[in-house]
Amino acid sequence: MLQPTMPKSWRRESKPHKFCPGCGHGIALRALGQAIDQLGIQDRVIFGCDIGCSLLAWDFFNVDTVQTHHGRTTPVITGVKRARPELICVAYMGDGGGYAIGSQHLVNAAARNENITVILVNNAQYGMTGGQMAPTTLPGQKTETTPYGRDPVLTGPPFQGPEMVAAVTPEGAYVARGTVGKVRQLQKMMVRALQNQMEGRGFSFIEVLSSCPTNWRTNARETWAFLEEKMPKFFNIGEIKIPVAEGDEDGQTS
Ligand code: SF4
Repeated sequence: MLQPTMPKSWRRESKPHKFCPGCGHGIALRALGQAIDQLGIQDRVIFGCDIGCSLLAWDFFNVDTVQTHHGRTTPVITGVKRARPELICVAYMGDGGGYAIGSQHLVNAAARNENITVILVNNAQYGMTGGQMAPTTLPGQKTETTPYGRDPVLTGPPFQGPEMVAAVTPEGAYVARGTVGKVRQLQKMMVRALQNQMEGRGFSFIEVLSSCPTNWRTNARETWAFLEEKMPKFFNIGEIKIPVAEGDEDGQTS
């Protein structure tokens, strides 16, 4: 049965929720659905999802959907957009798919200022495969492949995705980092990212800080402490690059 707060752009059939209890993916997808509703673009959206827990989003939206190989959502959605520029094309992925396996696609699509919207969920590890270290894993964080905690001397610091995208994109790009802990702010970012594409300005990118209590092995209190206290120490939340017309002279936010 349709819940009163369920975005109209979500599928209306009642289906069991596929994410683990406490997972942030559902919150991120709801923010995206509400942004699609607000802009009234449901019949124009193409949704692309990656391998990993992000693929569980493939039947959330009542829109045409394409599911791709791991890390390949960005080029697939780029191809759809080039073939059908009137559509609103969204690529949805996790941090393993976007920053490790698919990083070259992300960098080059951003540098070309492809007129697509990429939403990347950062939960600081690989979710579906059981909690291995990802580029975003925090220093000292224990994962299946860093049982003594991530050592940045050996494996580098947490990857700064939006900052990288902001550095390689030309004017017109929109880049932000939101969190499932601040849903209204996240929804506003989703609206601005989609509007950027609708207005033909170019690449729009949102990294979403999200929770994975299953692989973090955290209870509810610990989960939110990790999300709201630990992660923001390494990942700045806010808009990082906005189109020149909306920002100051160089399009950077203060
Ligand atoms: S493993 Fe983590 S990211 Fe995947 S559905 Fe469960 S909580 Fe969400």
